[in-house]
Amino acid sequence: MKTPVKLEAPKPAPAHSAPPTAAGGEAGDEPMSPARVPSPKPGGRKWPKQHPAARRKELEARVAEAKEEKAKLNLVVIGHVDAGKSTLMGHLLYALGGVEQKTMNKFERDSQKEGKGSFKFAWVLDAHSEERARGITMDVAVEHFETAHRRVTLLDAPGHRDFVPNMISGAAQADVAILVVNARTGEFEAGFEANGQTREHAVLARSLGVQQLVVAVNQLDAVGWAKERFDAIAARLAPFLRQAGYKDAAVWFVPVSGFTGENLVKRSAPELAAWYAGPTLVERIDQFAPPARLVQRPFRLCVSDVYKGLNMGVVAVGGKIEAGLVAANDTLLVLPACELCTVKTVLSNHEAVAVGTAGDNVELGLHGLDPAVLSAGSVLCDPEAPMPVVRKFTAQIITFGPLAHPITQGMHVIVHVQNVNEAGFLSKLVATTDRNNGTVLKRRPKMLPEKTNAVVEITLHRPLCLELYATYAQLGRFMLRDSGKTIAAGIVTELNEQVRI
Ligand code: GDP
Repeated sequence: MKTPVKLEAPKPAPAHSAPPTAAGGEAGDEPMSPARVPSPKPGGRKWPKQHPAARRKELEARVAEAKEEKAKLNLVVIGHVDAGKSTLMGHLLYALGGVEQKTMNKFERDSQKEGKGSFKFAWVLDAHSEERARGITMDVAVEHFETAHRRVTLLDAPGHRDFVPNMISGAAQADVAILVVNARTGEFEAGFEANGQTREHAVLARSLGVQQLVVAVNQLDAVGWAKERFDAIAARLAPFLRQAGYKDAAVWFVPVSGFTGENLVKRSAPELAAWYAGPTLVERIDQFAPPARLVQRPFRLCVSDVYKGLNMGVVAVGGKIEAGLVAANDTLLVLPACELCTVKTVLSNHEAVAVGTAGDNVELGLHGLDPAVLSAGSVLCDPEAPMPVVRKFTAQIITFGPLAHPITQGMHVIVHVQNVNEAGFLSKLVATTDRNNGTVLKRRPKMLPEKTNAVVEITLHRPLCLELYATYAQLGRFMLRDSGKTIAAGIVTELNEQVRI
C-alpha cells in the first residue's frame, strides 16, 4: 500500500491544481484584440497562405452566421474502473435516441447469452470502440449527442479504462468532464483512496484545462437512493476538488443510476424525488458554459486519428481544432513532417460542413500528402504561422505526490502533450517558486520534492510541436510521466530551441 495523498494542503491555494495561470483567468481566453498572433518562426522558408484574405473574410462571415446554433462542448467521462462510466454513457445515449432499438435489443440478447446482462448499456460504447479500432463504419451514433442547447462530443475515455495516457489524450481535448463515482458502500471509498483513479483522473483533468465538472454519484439504486450516502460522498469530494483547483461554482453533484436510467433524462423513482429536485444529468450537461475559443488565432489541429486507404488519394484525419478556421481548398502544413497538403472535405458529426472552427471536433479529408507522414500526434497548421517545433523549452511545473523518488536534474521523463509522448530529460532545475505568487524560493535546487512549484528546462530527444501557454493554453500544457506514473503537470513559458522550418 502506498501512503495516501494527504487531503490538507499547507496553503488554501490549489495544491495539485493546474499550474498558475496569468491573472484574470485562463490563458486560453480569446484576447480582446482580434489581431492574428504570428508564431515565432526562426528564419525558415516562405510558406504559402492557408487561404486568400478574401476567402478568410467569407469564412469568418459564415462562422458569425452559425453563432445562433447550439454551442459545442467536448466532454470526457472519467472515474475509477467499475464506477459505471460505460453503463452510464451507454444508457444516456440510448435514452437520447442515439442508439437504434434493434441495435439495443441485439446488445441485450448478446450480453445475456454471455451471462453479462448488466453490461448491455456498456456494450454500446465498447462495441463502438472496437468498431472504431477496426476502422469499420459505425452503426451506433455514439460520438455525439445533443441536449436542448448544446451539441456534445463524447471523447473516448471510457475505453482503455485503466490506461492513464489515453485518459490524458481524452482530457486534453475536453472542455468539461463528468466524474463518475460509485455510491455503493466501500466502492466510493476504494475509488477515492490512494490507489483509486477518482483522485488521479480529477487532478489530471484539471491540470489539462478542464474547469467545469459534473460529479455523477452513480449506482444510487444499489444503496436504496439514500440521501445520506449522496451527501456524505459530496462532502468528501468537495474539499478535494477545491484543492485540486476546481471552483466551487463550477462543480455540480447529480444523483443517478446508469443502470436503471434514473435521473439521466427524466426522474421517476419516488425514493429519489423525495429529496432531490435538481436538474437531471442531461439538464446539467445542458447548463455547462461554452468555453472561449481561439477563432482568431492561426489554425491548429492536433491529429488524434488517422484513417488511411478509405479513398484513393485522400487520407482522413480526426481531431479537435484548437484555433482558427478551416475549409475545403485550404492549404495546411503538417508538422513535424513539414509537408503541405490541401483540404478536400471538412466533416463535423460525420456531415460535411462549409467551415470548421476552434473547438470543433472534425474529420478532414486531405490530399497531396503521403499518408506515411501522418500519425496521431501530428499537427496541422496555418503554413504562414506554423506551430513551433521545439527541442528545448522552459516550463513552470507542479510536482504531484506521492513520488517514488525526488525529481533531480538530468532525470529522464516522458513529456505528454495532447496525443503525443516524447522522451526527454530535465536539463536544468532553474528554481523552486512560491505556489501563490510565483516568486523564486530557491535558485538551482538539487531536487524537487512532491507538491512543489518549480521552473525547469526540458530537453527532448526528438523535437515536438509546442506553443507558449500564454498564447495557446491547450497547446502549451503538458504532463511529465516517469515509470508509468504522472509526476508533474506543467505549462510552457519559453521556447528555448526551435527547429527551422
Ligand atoms: P466502467 O468500468 O466505469 O465503465 O463501469 P461499467 O459501466 O463497465 O460498470 C461496471 C459494473 O457496474 C457493471 O456490472 C454494471 O452493470 C454495474 N453498474 C454500472 N452502473 C450501475 C448502476 O447505476 N447501478 C447498478 N446497480 N449497477 C451498475
